[in-house]
Amino acid sequence: MIDPDPVLDPERQRLAKRYARQKRALALGSGFLLLAYLVAWQIALSAAHAHVLNALAIFGLFALMAVLFEVVELPNSWLGYQLSRGYGLSTQSPGSWFADQLKGLGLLLVLGGALVELTYLAARLQPQWWWLIMAGVILLFTVLLANLAPVLIAPLFFKFTPLDDEELSRRLLALVAKAGTRVRGVFTMHLSEKTTAANAALMGWGNTRRIVVGDTLTGSFTHDEAEAVLAHELGHHVHHDVWRAIALQSVITIAALGLAAACMAWIGAAGWVAPLPDAAGMPALGLLLVLWTAVFGPISNWASRVAERRADEYAIRTATRPRAFVGSMIRLANQNLAEVDPPRWVELLLYDHPAIQRRIRLFEQLQAESQGARRESQGASR
Ligand SMILES: [Zn+2]
Repeated sequence: MIDPDPVLDPERQRLAKRYARQKRALALGSGFLLLAYLVAWQIALSAAHAHVLNALAIFGLFALMAVLFEVVELPNSWLGYQLSRGYGLSTQSPGSWFADQLKGLGLLLVLGGALVELTYLAARLQPQWWWLIMAGVILLFTVLLANLAPVLIAPLFFKFTPLDDEELSRRLLALVAKAGTRVRGVFTMHLSEKTTAANAALMGWGNTRRIVVGDTLTGSFTHDEAEAVLAHELGHHVHHDVWRAIALQSVITIAALGLAAACMAWIGAAGWVAPLPDAAGMPALGLLLVLWTAVFGPISNWASRVAERRADEYAIRTATRPRAFVGSMIRLANQNLAEVDPPRWVELLLYDHPAIQRRIRLFEQLQAESQGARRESQGASR
């Protein structure tokens, strides 16, 4: 029997704070490594006065850069994996971890390779507007992948089976009906083979849309709490958050690509790198895209936090037992080793969800408001 009113574990919070700091240091290290790596590549290519013009050579350069980076970055990724094993979060065997790294690299080569080829094709055909064309291509990619991810990408990493808890399945589908939508089934995602962290999501759109619940969540959350988690996901659906996020992301992509294109034209004219459509400037272009995207990161994180808060509000208003929302938050903090009150600057710059403490406070605030409204209406009827 699962305790219906979990409490925040102070010892887990102490660990969560330390783990968060260590993860941030690792991510920062990774970021700087990528920048240094791209700068080194560009210096080498520019010094050699290299020219990379045909499609095969372009893919060759991209693949070589991607594979070598995987090797250079391996100690860092390994450290991250060992860290999460040390905290008891990762349950993955080293073999399975390596296999995942290879699958990720494979996906990067296929999807990233296609985007790189299209970029240089567009740069050759439309030297002025290639960046705008690519923003359109990326938008199409994003929409298509959002549809295909639950059937093509996610199964590469996790096993899915229909949820075998009939009672929970029925409750989740009732919630879906209440949100005025339809899904193609409720699935268990076998997360426990790789992690102890709990998660649930509404994946895909159109013919691939489905509810996905981690077996790590069904095993340790009460039905009320699982329902609160899914109600939050349905809140995203009701507010069309996927499409809003894609729209904002498109604007950011246009800005980042446009700024990167302007910078490339500038450093190309100065003779520092081979100008487009010569792909010998690929590391510089990659670097500029990484930097400009990072500049816009806090904006998209802010927009995401606004959407998350709205989804929380929806969950609290629609769940059968609203207090279960708090239970689910506390359980997530304990189980996933999530920091409930991160430093404010960390939340502002890096968090795409509000801090858990803030999410619990929203519940208390809404409860107080609805109690206030109830008292008022009782007072008026008297
Ligand atoms: Zn959400």
